[in-house]
Amino acid sequence: WSKETVAVVTGGNRGIGFEICRQLAEHGLTVILTSRDASAGCEAAKVLQESGLSLVSHQLDVLDSSSICHFADWLQKNYAGLDILVNNAGVNFNLGFDNSVENAHRVIKTNYYGIKIMTETMIPLMKPSIKGARIVNVSSRLGRLNGRRNRIGDVALREQLDDEETLSEELVDRTLSTFLQQVEDGTWTSNGWPQTFTDYSVSKLAVNAYTRLVARKLLEQPEGQKIYINCYCPGWVKTALTGYAGNNTAEEGADTGVWLALLPDQAVSGKFFAERREIKF
Ligand code: NDP
Repeated sequence: WSKETVAVVTGGNRGIGFEICRQLAEHGLTVILTSRDASAGCEAAKVLQESGLSLVSHQLDVLDSSSICHFADWLQKNYAGLDILVNNAGVNFNLGFDNSVENAHRVIKTNYYGIKIMTETMIPLMKPSIKGARIVNVSSRLGRLNGRRNRIGDVALREQLDDEETLSEELVDRTLSTFLQQVEDGTWTSNGWPQTFTDYSVSKLAVNAYTRLVARKLLEQPEGQKIYINCYCPGWVKTALTGYAGNNTAEEGADTGVWLALLPDQAVSGKFFAERREIKF
């Protein structure tokens, strides 16, 4: 990896995203730290620049299609595209059983549809290379289909989402709209959705499913133009998102993401990782 390698990180102004930017810049890549608040991104980049690292910041709100379009044009014009995309931006508002309609919509929109639109917009801008371009989605074990706790109670739906034959974008979209409809009409509590961090867990379940779907589509890319996509759980990390209550530092939370972004000769795609090891979806 060299200065020629361009890495874009969403939500880079703080928390795990900021640490991912730092660690990628320490490997000598050209890092573009993006943030929805331009001045917060500028400040964050300044902190890293003052420690001797070279990186740039740019405004990017994953909920705002004109911000994404503007960013994509700027990226193409100034860097001729990108090699690595880290979809890190995310929100969480609920603790336990709290599940307001407004927050549920915002969580699903940001954590799932934000990643989807960024991935769809960035894939055509990914530079061809022998090593293959990389997409890393920051997800969570809370969205596991096969976890011991917190999984979807509807066995048939779980099996459909788990099975390569039945998994589709339509199924993911349908699952999310059913969930949001049930949050709206107040029936979600009795319908077997994850019991902890419910809307957040559903959003991450969708991210995991989407990672598998995109990996499948990208298999068709010709040699020399490969793009690998994986997701990972950073653990329970002391950031604003957890009220700084986690076990791991943001630096530790960034580690597996950076490792995935920089794997040498990566042929692995469509997988879920934690602590640098593959885990089951
Ligand atoms: P933080 O709250 O510290 O950081 C979240 C980042 O996402 C911020 O930079 C925030 O920007 C940004 N963001 C939110 N909404 C948008 C948007 N619409 N457009 C662009 N950026 C946005 O949380 P973490 O660092 O903990 O979270 C990073 C990722 O890690 C998330 O995807 C989260 O779900 C995931 N994760 C975190 C865990 C943890 O224990 N902390 C566990 C599992 C997964 P702003 O500063 O403007 O709000």
